[in-house]
Amino acid sequence: MYRPLWIEVDRKALKKNVLTIKKIIGPKVGIMATVKQNAYGHGLVPIARCLSSLGVVYFGVGSLEEAIQLRHAGIKEPILILTALLKEGIPELFRYHVTPTVTNLDFAKSVNEYAIRKNKIHPIHLKIDTGMGRIGWWYQGAVAAIVQLKKLTHLELEGIFTHYPAAGTDDRFTRLQIGRFNELLDELSQRKIDFRYIHTANSMALWKYRHARFNLVRPGLILYGIKPDEKMDIPLSPILSLKSQVVFLKKVPRGRSIGYGRTFVTKSPTQIATVAIGYADGYPWRLSNKGQVLIRRRLCPIRGRVCMDHIMVETGNITGVHLGCPVTLIGKNSSHRIGAEDIAHWAGTIPYEIVTRLSSKIPRIYT
Ligand SMILES: *Cc1c(COP(=O)(O)O)cnc(C)c1O
Repeated sequence: MYRPLWIEVDRKALKKNVLTIKKIIGPKVGIMATVKQNAYGHGLVPIARCLSSLGVVYFGVGSLEEAIQLRHAGIKEPILILTALLKEGIPELFRYHVTPTVTNLDFAKSVNEYAIRKNKIHPIHLKIDTGMGRIGWWYQGAVAAIVQLKKLTHLELEGIFTHYPAAGTDDRFTRLQIGRFNELLDELSQRKIDFRYIHTANSMALWKYRHARFNLVRPGLILYGIKPDEKMDIPLSPILSLKSQVVFLKKVPRGRSIGYGRTFVTKSPTQIATVAIGYADGYPWRLSNKGQVLIRRRLCPIRGRVCMDHIMVETGNITGVHLGCPVTLIGKNSSHRIGAEDIAHWAGTIPYEIVTRLSSKIPRIYT
């Protein structure tokens, strides 16, 4: 490793978060671990292996590619693709035993035809739109389509689900959605259409709405110890640290400009350290003159703009800063912690975007 930039992932902390979630949902509700987009940047296969040993019921991925990657890694649990798939992927669903999200009758018929040819029964999950407005049948009128679907001989209607766009911010609307979904479940039940898995809740919804848990929940962000909202008061352990080192150090007089655009000029003599991380690594350019990093137990401000491969930070009169000095960009030491939430706040975005955009080129070390 010649470029000093790496991510440390703490498996023990992941385990703690799973136990915390299990305590919230109780023994009768299972976990579908949402590991889409490289397990939110934490590394798909190592995270899935760890979660597998912690007893999750299902994995939720974002693409057929991710599902195949998990199968190649020997993951045996059922896998649901949470996104809408086009017909081209159908043979691979069978080859790798992957459950698709079904959002229209035409696709269901194609899966059924393939299943007949292979002489197999294939599981599917139905996606219902109760207000997210992304994919799936609008809940009103969905019954007619599902009754048609039920007639397809080689499909197992294993699951049905929906998703909440505002579980953390709009209580009235979220309750309305839960009501809409239950209404549909009742209508289906009257027609003897029942499902093994009913799941609706992401991190926020599983915490806030007991009635949204049904018998399976789909946490993503909180698995990784990150809060979707600072109001969430559950004890989570962040599992990812982002670390680098000082690669250049200089003392500068007053009036020296730092970085592109000359957006920062020193007001007094100080010390500036250059650190090996930049926006091409997924460290947001928006942190220019805004973000902070941890060096020798102190918070140091970013000076000037974030470059492609570097940032400059002011270490001022902190003693003991040297070439090769460790720098924590996300993570903690004995005095401070910088969370993905903080980075997101400084950059004017959401923590999801921060972790999923950390470049896959950065080596991940699992402890
Ligand atoms: C990403 C996703 C989740 C997980 O959401 P978090 O907020 O990270 O818990 C759950 N369900 C679906 C359909 C998703 O796309």
